Amino acid sequence: ATPTSIMVGIGRASELGVLFRKGDALQLLDGVDVVAFDKTGTLTEGHPELTDLILANGQSRETVLPLIAAVENQSEHPIAKAITRAAREDGLNWSTARNFASTTGFGVRASVDGHDVMIGAGRYLSREGIDLGDWEGRESDLASRGRTALFAVIDGRVAALVGVSDPMKPASRATITALHAVGLKVAMITGDKRETAEAIGTDLGIDHIIADVLPDGKVTAIEDLKSGGRTVAFVGDGINDAPALAHADIGIAIGTGTDVAIEAADVVLMSDDLRAVLTALDVSRKTMRNIR
Ligand code: ADP
Ligand code: MG
Repeated sequence: ATPTSIMVGIGRASELGVLFRKGDALQLLDGVDVVAFDKTGTLTEGHPELTDLILANGQSRETVLPLIAAVENQSEHPIAKAITRAAREDGLNWSTARNFASTTGFGVRASVDGHDVMIGAGRYLSREGIDLGDWEGRESDLASRGRTALFAVIDGRVAALVGVSDPMKPASRATITALHAVGLKVAMITGDKRETAEAIGTDLGIDHIIADVLPDGKVTAIEDLKSGGRTVAFVGDGINDAPALAHADIGIAIGTGTDVAIEAADVVLMSDDLRAVLTALDVSRKTMRNIR
């Protein structure tokens, strides 16, 4: 393609809601092999809801929910919002948590009304030396239904298993089907555990499901996808997606996402509708093959 046809392609794309920040990206996208998606906020709405609260013997929803809401009230994570919203909808009040500590990718902990309260993934409990007891089976049950499973721990004991679910964006499935139709492979990168990720990813027809990814592990995931000379596009929205956006051959940020992600990307989608990825591909192919 000539510099002029690339300029024309970039102009055409911008009319269709896709901003190419570099001409390179328009050329590279035509040769893409794999399109990898961040899960939360990219494939999903990013607004999970509390769906399950499975209580240990002797615990009640009225005691557990305010304690974990008090801790999550100090967190910005979408899971935190799901829990405080559920407590509020139940009409429950909570105290102010003290000594709040967050371990990114694992969970959160604080003291509330004299209790040591933790909420997080199974790997958070292992890391903090808390015994999972006989909860592992129930965690697997929740996860295999596509829920993110979290443990609520009060004073060192599991008090409840919490399930949250983040609905898919309506366009995710159609986008993946269309990518397959043009011969591309699709990957999903997520901090969720394998069973949760597989339940969601298999349902969507994802080819490569990369689970249990810690916040700084997305770059390694992209690196693995690139091995063997594959050209990889990565689509993401969050602050923690920025390094992977920069590392992918083509970084595609969702324009409604964080500024940090947008800064790191080569391509910005003006809406949160993932079908804009298909628009970007289409413009790239037509430009590189001189089709008008
Ligand atoms: P993702 O973007 O896939 O949700 P994160 O790295 O943000 O990945 O989180 C990974 C996991 O860490 C979550 O699925 C959850 O199990 C746990 N976690 C992180 N923050 C919190 C929190 N505030 N409350 C409970 N669990 C959390
Ligand atoms: Mg995200």
